[in-house]
Amino acid sequence: MSQILFPEVIQFLSQQPIPQFIGGQWVESPSGCVLESRDPGSGRTIAQFSGGDAQDIDQAVRAAHRAFREQPWAGLAPNDRAVFLHRLADLVDKHSPILAQIESLDVGKPLPQAAGDVANVAATIRYFADLNVYMRRREPIAVRGHEARSIRVPYGVCGFVFPWNFPLLLVGWGIAPALAAGNTVVIKPAEDTPLSTLYFCHLVAAAGIPPGVVNVVTGLGETAGAALSQHPGIKRMSFTGSPEVGRLVGEACGRNLVPVKLELGGKGAAVIFDDVDVDATAAALAGAITFNTGQVCCTATRWVVHHSIHDRLVQRASELLSTIHIGHGYEAATQMGPVVSEKQRQRVLGYLERGEQEGADVLLRGGAAIVPGHEQGFYVKPALLGGSPDNVACREEIFGPTAYVVPFRDESHAVEMVNRSTYGLANSVWSGNLERANRVAEALVAGNSWINAHNLFPHGVPYGGCNLSGMGGGVNSPETLIDYLRPQSIVRPLP
Ligand code: NAD
Repeated sequence: MSQILFPEVIQFLSQQPIPQFIGGQWVESPSGCVLESRDPGSGRTIAQFSGGDAQDIDQAVRAAHRAFREQPWAGLAPNDRAVFLHRLADLVDKHSPILAQIESLDVGKPLPQAAGDVANVAATIRYFADLNVYMRRREPIAVRGHEARSIRVPYGVCGFVFPWNFPLLLVGWGIAPALAAGNTVVIKPAEDTPLSTLYFCHLVAAAGIPPGVVNVVTGLGETAGAALSQHPGIKRMSFTGSPEVGRLVGEACGRNLVPVKLELGGKGAAVIFDDVDVDATAAALAGAITFNTGQVCCTATRWVVHHSIHDRLVQRASELLSTIHIGHGYEAATQMGPVVSEKQRQRVLGYLERGEQEGADVLLRGGAAIVPGHEQGFYVKPALLGGSPDNVACREEIFGPTAYVVPFRDESHAVEMVNRSTYGLANSVWSGNLERANRVAEALVAGNSWINAHNLFPHGVPYGGCNLSGMGGGVNSPETLIDYLRPQSIVRPLP
């Protein structure tokens, strides 16, 4: 494996441990705690990194606060900040092969998918840098007898806790609007996948972004993550992860009266009408549940299919899913990599078992997969279950390459089944009849509805969830940038 790694990647991974990035310095945690990161494709340890805790978080928040108050970042004209951010985006593009190698190795995703994530990060940074240049921050307000205006200013230190499924992509989606608006940030990446975020900090420094504007503390959720969400120096918080932890972060922010954005899990549905091209739709849905090995919060995990095409669609999807090439992310033939950890593999297998015990039909049997040469890797086979929509596998988020198929009779039956979910992140509608597709898309209760596609994220379109899928705004749109600007009004009585 080491022969195919770039020398920069070998050098980066060989630090014992990889330190944290605080106040522009690379520092080890005074706790002395060291954590390990594994290659999910081989099960082997690939790097050690510093295990930060509340002390490191405090240092990072102080550094970010100093950078906000004393460095020119917040005071720069939007155009001048955009110059730094464009430089950072260019460096991300330039180092894409290195970042993609690190991401693929740490998460297990196929190399081309990791490269796609890196390209998206660069595009996101440019999108917010440019948007900020043209955003009006001063609006005169027409009121009788007063001179009044509203202004928008950055909050200060913003905290971010991220999950392991798209580590670098989510850093880009999260911090790009905060930085463009003039805030400074403290990031706590997932303990399973901190490596690309740490490498990214080298690019932040190389772009000339002032020390303390971006800080990264690597550590466990219960220590570093909890300390960040509770820190009184945080002025705005963003959490991406499970609803269970989202509640804890929300509670901590509530106690400090800090605005919080929660991007949580999902149980996305695809509603498939009888006028679709069955083969093409089956291929798209099989692609949706195997992309990133199904570890995608918004993907199509419930297939709500018109009864007349149910069997054909299941058969075609099963053919495609059972022939997908499962392998290590570095192998060119790989179409689907491992899940991120043994814990995650057990979660997926456990849900399949519980679903079957509760009476689900096994339409395509999943289970653990053995990849020759990588017997210790965390591989699973795609699976399809079907039957009652009350089954646990249809209700709860599994986060693996699986879908639960339920037949529907008519449009209102389909809408009712989708909206039974306690989640509300994203759904899709598949039909040749655009009038119907648009009507159903609007009737589904979620932050996002897609038509004749699943997993669409063009920059400029807001993406976020409701219900158990989150609250407090989404990502990748003008609203997100405004979210990182605090409103303030200024009024004077006219003589
Ligand atoms: P998780 O909630 O277990 O962990 C997410 C992060 O929270 C990690 O960095 C973890 O260290 C940290 N954490 C754990 N305990 C904490 C605590 N007490 N206080 C503060 N932080 C703590 O989630 P995960 O398993 O890493 O990720 C999978 C989940 O993320 C799924 O539910 C998925 O749907 C969701 N997700 C949502 C989106 C979205 O945009 N809505 C995107 C990606 C993932």
